[in-house]
Amino acid sequence: MRKRIGYVLAVLAIALGGTVAVEAVAPSTASADECYTWSRTLSSGMSGSDVRELQIRVAGWVASGENLAIDGQYGPATAAAVKRFQSGYGLSADGVAGTQTFNKIYQLQDADCTPIHFDHSEFNYNCGARNYNGGKVTAATARENMRRVMWQLEAMRHKLGDRPLVVTSGFRSVSCNSSVGGSSTSLHMYGQAADLGLSSSPSQCQMWNSGKSAGFEELLGPGYPGHNDHVHVGNKASRFWSAPNC
Ligand SMILES: [Zn+2]
Repeated sequence: MRKRIGYVLAVLAIALGGTVAVEAVAPSTASADECYTWSRTLSSGMSGSDVRELQIRVAGWVASGENLAIDGQYGPATAAAVKRFQSGYGLSADGVAGTQTFNKIYQLQDADCTPIHFDHSEFNYNCGARNYNGGKVTAATARENMRRVMWQLEAMRHKLGDRPLVVTSGFRSVSCNSSVGGSSTSLHMYGQAADLGLSSSPSQCQMWNSGKSAGFEELLGPGYPGHNDHVHVGNKASRFWSAPNC
């Protein structure tokens, strides 16, 4: 979330007395976000790592069946996702990411760049290991993949009326995955999937349906073997949606 760190930096600069530290007190850092601060307005045709950071945050605002590419290129799909994000939060929807959009994102993110309603601790249980080790990708990649899933879930949560989603499983190491009976090709071993448990609201079918427009290409729910007590959401290249009882 947004924090005014200009004063802290100024005190630090005085304490350190160095030119490098003094340079850190640029006016633009006065309202910097703890996690990530955008320094320019982003719009169609632009590219860069700042576009990529934006894409991660709007990945859950796609059209039904879409999976946003996190490629650092501000194309039509990114502009459309930004537009949906803006209307979803009551901002004027022009598909251009400027101060208004960034301020909303700052409100929605924690210091570690995860969205406010989700935390790594909910996703890295990993059979008690509490880390992202032992999967099919490096721990850093699994963690980054999981962060994208979290932003998609934040969008889903908002669209479902700001009701909590209960995460029952996130990343699993290869051995953890086999010990819980997961599929040998499970996206959980990549940090690309999460399981959502049941609560009074939203219903299991509401969650399953909502996942379609939150960018999830793998969606398993009631009626699919082993999925009567949770909804599985995941990111993959090809689509596999199944919930015969919805
Ligand atoms: Zn699952």
